Amino acid sequence: MRLKDRVAVITGAASGIGRESALLFAAEGARVVAVDLADDAGKKCVEEITAKGQQAIYVHADVSKAADCAEMIAAAERTWGRLDILFNNAGIMHSADDDAVSTDEAIWDLTMNVNLKSVFLGCKYGIPALQRAGGGAIINTASLVAVMGSGAPQLAYTASKGGVLAMTRELAIVHARQNIRINALCPGPLRTELLMKFLDTEEKRQRRLVHIPIGRFGEAAEMARAALYLASDDASFTTGSTFIVDGGITAAYVTPE
Ligand code: NAD
Repeated sequence: MRLKDRVAVITGAASGIGRESALLFAAEGARVVAVDLADDAGKKCVEEITAKGQQAIYVHADVSKAADCAEMIAAAERTWGRLDILFNNAGIMHSADDDAVSTDEAIWDLTMNVNLKSVFLGCKYGIPALQRAGGGAIINTASLVAVMGSGAPQLAYTASKGGVLAMTRELAIVHARQNIRINALCPGPLRTELLMKFLDTEEKRQRRLVHIPIGRFGEAAEMARAALYLASDDASFTTGSTFIVDGGITAAYVTPE
């Protein structure tokens, strides 16, 4: 068990990467605070965990709101007395997010609030809790588009993830000597609700697949395993990293036939 008795807050736990991580972290011995806005799916994830005799609670929170972020951390400490792992993972990709000319200011603000401000707020309330516990690990979900440009623009999304990556590096250095490790997980394109809603035709999906050397979309469960590594003591010398899990995209000049 790689996370025995650790207390982990995971945002976006109702779906995709967050849900798979909640299931995996709990199976590895963690006590999980599963956070989301989607209450039915979030509670279902928790029920799946507790039905196996593992430990989790559900907390409703909008991660773009300070009071909600404060409460999700407080819930961890109230229920299990500590916080060891914070996985700032919730995010959105808006269908009206496009290039600079076409993207409305409201879409920009919404995306920044949910994807970037949320990570700031998670850290604002989570870091003091990790300090009280004597240290811990933070994983922030950024994206491949934090390090590479895309010809299919989602400007607000890309800028928000660039911010997550830069913030992760800086916080990792600030807290490096406090036994707090902070890393950015940068997934490539995944076969989750978030991206498949966006790539809603076979043509759009094929256009993306051409650029993935491994020749398929990634799975949320594969990101959960990467997050488990970053959360666990296996990553004890890993902090401030841009942890890219992308099926080879960033290594490729020309993809295989
Ligand atoms: P998903 O849509 O399957 O899950 C995201 C979850 O976040 C949902 O359960 C949703 O309800 C929740 N959420 C959204 N807004 C919220 C808010 N304001 N407060 C609380 N919860 C909220 O998506 P996913 O693919 O699992 O994505 C998870 C993270 O991974 C996101 O940050 C996303 O940007 C990032 N990511 C995804 C991909 C991909 O291809 N799917 C690639 C790179 C990065």
